Amino acid sequence: MKKILVSACLMGYDCRYKGDNCKCEKLTELGKDNVLIPVCPEQLGGLPTPRMPGERVGDKVLACDGSDVTEQYARGAKFALGIAKENNVEHCILKANSPSCGKGVIYDGTFSGNKIAGNGVTTELLLNNGFEVITENEL
Ligand code: SF4
Repeated sequence: MKKILVSACLMGYDCRYKGDNCKCEKLTELGKDNVLIPVCPEQLGGLPTPRMPGERVGDKVLACDGSDVTEQYARGAKFALGIAKENNVEHCILKANSPSCGKGVIYDGTFSGNKIAGNGVTTELLLNNGFEVITENEL
């Protein structure tokens, strides 16, 4: 039985910025034979739910009103990394496109729905520490 770090919103927790979730049914199946460990880096970083959406802009993360939430995103990423290490997770399944959890593709920082190549803040930290990260789209 493997331990897998998972974006909490994919497991049905209402932790998205709008206060809803994006439950992924494939994870329900995966959870029958594996230990899924949910994390929401944005909540772990101290942001409320609901909250303003954020997007990566260069080396910062800005909320849609222009306020700087880089510190909260970085803090949440560190907490998520700590949980991944403590549990010695086999890999991570994180939410596609998110400024925290996305892998390979993220929103472009204009809040227009456009996407660019890049990783979310948490994904970047996990990859830099040797963890394998995939999104729900790769299941
Ligand atoms: S930070 Fe990650 S886990 Fe939390 S709501 Fe956003 S995509 Fe889901």
